[in-house]
Amino acid sequence: MSELEKKKTEFEARIREFVGLPEGPPYLCPDAVNEAMIRHWCDAMGDQNPAYLDADAAAETVHGGLVAPPTMLQSWEMRGYPMHDATRLLPQNNQRKLHAAFDEAGYTGVVATDTEQEYARYLRPGDRITAETTIESISEEKATALGIGYFIVTRSVFSDEQGEEVGNLSFRVLKFKPAQEAQAAQESAAAPAKPTRIRSPYGHDNGWWWEACQEGRLLIQKCSGCGELRHPPRPMCGSCQSTEWDSIEASGRGSVYSFTVLHYPPIPGYDFPCPVGLIDLEEGTRICANIAGVEPEDIHIGMKVECMFDDVDEGLKLPFFYMVE
Ligand code: ZN
Repeated sequence: MSELEKKKTEFEARIREFVGLPEGPPYLCPDAVNEAMIRHWCDAMGDQNPAYLDADAAAETVHGGLVAPPTMLQSWEMRGYPMHDATRLLPQNNQRKLHAAFDEAGYTGVVATDTEQEYARYLRPGDRITAETTIESISEEKATALGIGYFIVTRSVFSDEQGEEVGNLSFRVLKFKPAQEAQAAQESAAAPAKPTRIRSPYGHDNGWWWEACQEGRLLIQKCSGCGELRHPPRPMCGSCQSTEWDSIEASGRGSVYSFTVLHYPPIPGYDFPCPVGLIDLEEGTRICANIAGVEPEDIHIGMKVECMFDDVDEGLKLPFFYMVE
């Protein structure tokens, strides 16, 4: 069995443990069946049946008084605004836990698909309803237009104060891995890699300096004739024309002599805005490098900085100068 199949088997065993469990304790609906909610519901639905709305007319019907539309059944247990945030609504609720298990496994999408309702009797104003919801079934994995997922069916049974069932409904949702996200992930995996930085010219006269960078060391070339430091590396001393040279390792400490912040044009491999500084190293030479770890607007001339080597691309470390507090 592959690792993927093993994971799926474990996941399915985990979700199937929820089948048959109550969603939570029985829920006493917050409001008794009442005329105001019935009127609003009929208004929204465009239902003008006098048995729901006109007490005098309703008295003349087979009901002998006002009744609630049977299809309002679920509205009595609607839990209001907290329903917008599943995590805050009944954290111990088994249905929430089940959905969390799906979310963890990547089935983050949810869509209600259908409901079936049965009515045992008409509800009347004053009835107090209790709802008990059970996780009834979870389907096999299905491929749907929205993505692969599982159908979860819950059943809610509604009872009156005498414990008599007044109706029940099943509610089916699809928990799925959003196909668009899966496609986007696939596309980004197939997308070309982020462009790398343009490499500096690298040759006999300066390769040694770049090699030291890859080891995290900032070197400064030093003339063997007169002892003058120079950067960037070059073959001959500008003061005594000696071609003999050595190097010293810089402390990395310095201050900003000057700087600029590049915005445009965007050069592949760099993040913009891109601050570039001319740094006075404490050894006495200057180096041009990126300034990092500070908002561009906070950079100022004279700012104390210290060099750190960061990986910018695969196999390329570069010195960055960070502000020293
Ligand atoms: Zn020299």
